[in-house]
Amino acid sequence: MSTTHRIDRRTLLKVGTTGAVMLGAGAPLASAQEKPKKGGTLTIGRNHDADTLYPGRSTGLSAIATNFLLYDGLVLHDFQMKIRSALAEKWETSADGLTWTFHLRRNVKFHCGAPLTAQDVKEHFDRWIDPKESVPTRAKMASLQETRVVDDHTIVFKLKNPTLVFLNNVSQTEWGYASIPHAKHVNQYGKDYGVVSASVCGTGPFRLREWLKDDRMELTRNDDYAWGSPAYDNTAAPWVDRILFRTLPEDASRAAELETGGIDLDIDVAPQHIPRLEGRGVKVTSIPRLSSNHIGFNLEKDVFKDPRVRKAVAHAVNREQIVQFVMKGQADVSHGFLHPLVPGATPKEQMRPLMYEWSLEKSKRLFTEAGWTPGPGGIRQKDGRPLSATCFVFTELHERIVTPVQATLRDAGFDMQIKRLEAAAFTSATRAGEHDMRFLPMIYSSADFLYFFVSQAIPSPNTVRWKDEKTDAFFQVSQTSLKEAERVRAFQGLEQRLVSEAVVVPIQHIRWIFGNRPRARGLKYHPIHGIYKLMDVWVA
Ligand SMILES: [Zn+2]
Repeated sequence: MSTTHRIDRRTLLKVGTTGAVMLGAGAPLASAQEKPKKGGTLTIGRNHDADTLYPGRSTGLSAIATNFLLYDGLVLHDFQMKIRSALAEKWETSADGLTWTFHLRRNVKFHCGAPLTAQDVKEHFDRWIDPKESVPTRAKMASLQETRVVDDHTIVFKLKNPTLVFLNNVSQTEWGYASIPHAKHVNQYGKDYGVVSASVCGTGPFRLREWLKDDRMELTRNDDYAWGSPAYDNTAAPWVDRILFRTLPEDASRAAELETGGIDLDIDVAPQHIPRLEGRGVKVTSIPRLSSNHIGFNLEKDVFKDPRVRKAVAHAVNREQIVQFVMKGQADVSHGFLHPLVPGATPKEQMRPLMYEWSLEKSKRLFTEAGWTPGPGGIRQKDGRPLSATCFVFTELHERIVTPVQATLRDAGFDMQIKRLEAAAFTSATRAGEHDMRFLPMIYSSADFLYFFVSQAIPSPNTVRWKDEKTDAFFQVSQTSLKEAERVRAFQGLEQRLVSEAVVVPIQHIRWIFGNRPRARGLKYHPIHGIYKLMDVWVA
């Protein structure tokens, strides 16, 4: 792994007051002297396809990554996590923090040729906060009272309460949710918007040309694009003619395609393929991700209503072993739920007594205390029912991560089955509550993502279905307090509660591993979103 371009935590620059963590500048991989050239296709392999391209309706990573290319937002975070202008040229806030006014750039056009207006912005945010729309990310806009169009290029947001997180949540970087679709198309297509290819219309640097679900998605350059964010060197139309996404769920297939030129870039290289790829001229880059890989329970299932059973499962997870043998060291062992770099993470020494260390004996003891007694075939039982559950996963790597847990649980008398679903099926099944347990690789930019555990977010994204007044209260404080220290304490309290109650079983914080063929140039990796908007990328 000697040539792996590792961006270490030492490159951490600083921690912003609203919880933005700066993991260091994007890593330009091409020589600075090289002059980009126009044309060509960049083919990208990914392990799952987008489910919907309606911004905010999906928390899936492929949907989010695609939305950055198709849409723009009012503002975005640059490669140093600083807020920069995008569709909004400038903005101001009232002294009481309750009124935000955004001034839109002129001459911005949607892909269909219609001009962007303040009405388009209004309709997106109005729909987002409309309870009838049940958008899964609605908690992000909890402080928004109403929007008002002043004129075609001016929009006002009225808040219920001042908050430190509003501008952050309006940024497109917050998972693409604040990306602005063309209101006319959304109204025309209704529930089909973002699902039917022809419906999709944004102002982004690329247009959707063709989408064969779970196979390939073709995007073409928006030649009219002249409103790129100053976050990029190139603020005009992108260099490449086309972006072709290929959905290749098997890690080995993506590695093979990368070797042979079937793809130029794999945005999720599995750790075990790194040495081979590097031997074949592939450039491998690994960056730390603010992430919480964990197992979560469906708390509505009888077996997991008993916290002793959940804690017994937690004791069956050997985090060090998973990081060493499955991740080949390309991850950091979790000593809490939150990544230690996130403001709001509880200090490790304070977290230690709340974590369940790997211990087969403790796991067995807790199952026994919960009334599960040894039964036929070594599987425990209670009232004639075997102790068994199914853990849903959606990638091959996730399956490899939970396999050692399955083995330890079996020794403890718990029959845990692993079921790997395709990503979209995983999302709908966990939303419907069909899972007993699920492995989830949460990626975030700040501790605000903990809204995934508030009761308002049941059934999705709160797929563990945790309904807890204390959790809700902590989150409420985190979103409304104007004192950063109080906000941090609220997140810490929430983290400690999730871990001590074994609502989640933390495993690791992953690194993000990219592999690219030499013809892909100008790649810069954003600390939160990797390839991000691809404005500076070109092919040789
Ligand atoms: Zn349109």
